Amino acid sequence: MEKKQLLKQYFGYDSFREGQEVLIDSILEHRDVLGIMPTGAGKSLCYQIPALMLEGITLVISPLISLMKDQVEGLNQAGIHAAYLNSSLTPGQYRKALLFAREGRYPIIYVAPERLMTEEFLDFALHTRIAMVAVDEAHCVSQWGQDFRPSYLKITEFIEKLPVRPVVAAFTATATREVKEDIIDILMLREPTLMTTGFDRKNLYFGVMAPKDRYGAIKNYLDCHPGESGIVYCLTRKMVEEVCEKLEKDGFSVTKYHAGLKDGERKENQEDFIYDRSLVMVATNAFGMGIDKSNVRFVLHYGMPKNLESYYQEAGRAGRDGQPAECILFYNGQDVITNQFFIENNQDNQELDEVTRRIVAERDRERLRMMTFYCFTNDCLRDYILRYFGEYGSNYCGNCSNCLSQFEDVDVTEMAQAILGCVRECRQRYGMNVILETVHGADTAKIRGYRMNQNSFYGQLKTIPVYRLRQILQYLILKEYITPTNDEYAVLKLTEKAGVILEGQERMTMKLAKEQEHPARVKTGKGASGGQKGSKRALLSGEGFGEREEALFERLRQLRTQIAREEKVPPYIVFSDKTLTHMCMLKPETREAMLRVSGVGEHKYEKYGQRFLECILEERQKADMEGEL
Ligand code: ADP
Ligand code: MG
Repeated sequence: MEKKQLLKQYFGYDSFREGQEVLIDSILEHRDVLGIMPTGAGKSLCYQIPALMLEGITLVISPLISLMKDQVEGLNQAGIHAAYLNSSLTPGQYRKALLFAREGRYPIIYVAPERLMTEEFLDFALHTRIAMVAVDEAHCVSQWGQDFRPSYLKITEFIEKLPVRPVVAAFTATATREVKEDIIDILMLREPTLMTTGFDRKNLYFGVMAPKDRYGAIKNYLDCHPGESGIVYCLTRKMVEEVCEKLEKDGFSVTKYHAGLKDGERKENQEDFIYDRSLVMVATNAFGMGIDKSNVRFVLHYGMPKNLESYYQEAGRAGRDGQPAECILFYNGQDVITNQFFIENNQDNQELDEVTRRIVAERDRERLRMMTFYCFTNDCLRDYILRYFGEYGSNYCGNCSNCLSQFEDVDVTEMAQAILGCVRECRQRYGMNVILETVHGADTAKIRGYRMNQNSFYGQLKTIPVYRLRQILQYLILKEYITPTNDEYAVLKLTEKAGVILEGQERMTMKLAKEQEHPARVKTGKGASGGQKGSKRALLSGEGFGEREEALFERLRQLRTQIAREEKVPPYIVFSDKTLTHMCMLKPETREAMLRVSGVGEHKYEKYGQRFLECILEERQKADMEGEL
């Protein structure tokens, strides 16, 4: 079967996402690959689909039992035979799984890296045709990252033992140069096809707030988002205990996670969260690695993390299914002090010598500063994050608390006219700085030397701050009213379009940050983002999502929970939130229509399709009856 057909039949999706096809094609041509894509981008499909097409078995190396379990359950639900081999199996189960693998029953198996060089596994591997070794979370080979696993170093040794070298495919969401080079070197990838997609997570809303009553703000947020699953990160174990206890008293479905809990309790709490038995997880940063739960609708930070790397990783656990999700940081001045304390007393650096330790601490302090600025910037928050990671954003995303509250539409026609007029009058001979200084009325030798103080627009915009004028001028360039020459002087030239503005035939508005105090500074006691119930789904789906769809969504969600209990898998493995949303919009009443829903493959249709169809039909009849009354 062709790759597109497999995507539809097993996974129920119509098209590939950015980067997936390139990687799949490359693997099918037996070329190594390295895919660097953000969380939720869909890296798993990049090896799962070729695994179904290549002759021989695919081994997936994954660092955590929970990740393997999740993926194997997902594949089984989609109708693909898969198994995992790790320490959670009894010796009997392990042998049986290996036997089935030998018999060629699985196109794909997941293996813990510690298993690779064991006698039993090698005996299997050396006598089986292995088509591909896929290394998930490949940054675990690098000591540069936070998640280094020595056992990942065994992967190369293992591959070298195989009689025929399989294609090697590596995947990670970590983008730093050191990690990337380490992956290529240590895994000995052969001229890999590199695929790096952007780091922007468009479905995530970013917000910063500094409420007087932090607990009240969190509670208010949860009140506004009933039935949604999310994480509340706290800086310390003590805070986790406090917040969790209060929320429990206030009647929320919560659980907790931190390194101070006993193994058993931690595991149990984690499962309660994954299976939606507890909707909200209150945790320290110890929680999250290996959590692939796709329907996390919000990540709230009760306190500012130590750097943006941690923040983006933790916040990024929201919205893996691509559905709108919210990431809100509740900031308090005390957080900086707490983090400074962590830096000065970092236990991880004990074995470093004094000089190195000082360098590391200085780097950590700088990162903390950048994190603190995030809480105070008036700029677009997404833009701030992307710039921190070395990408260019656009200065306005429209989906963060700054863009939504700090920005306003401003009519800038007069200012634009003055700038354009100034450029025209000096016969388009100067660059950006001269023009800005002129309209702002700078009294400098340079301006006098160019006689720009005689330009009739000189000083006309002296009440407007220069940074504002620069933004407007940049906007004029972006919108192609002005083009700078392509040489070192970057002289500003007017385009034909400029005339419309100059002659006043068209007005010009742009989004500009409001001249007001940032909420993180004025400390309002207001609650969190005004998200009313369901607003996020409505946001994504536009007009198609009204009250009726909300009601249907609730019904379908209940059905999903029920099925998940019967199947003993997490609800999001049955269908993702995204699939349920799509179902609410299409309201399919036939098999064909149901198969058109994104995320409904044939196998899942056979298993549950009928029950969901019935549910939709019932809701329609109910709505029709209400309509007649
Ligand atoms: P990653 O490993 O990159 O973080 P996953 O492989 O876990 O991401 O995929 C995240 C989600 O995106 C999953 O729910 C998956 O089913 C979904 N997904 C992957 N590829 C597609 C696609 N082409 N169309 C729609 N959804 C997809
Ligand atoms: Mg993954």
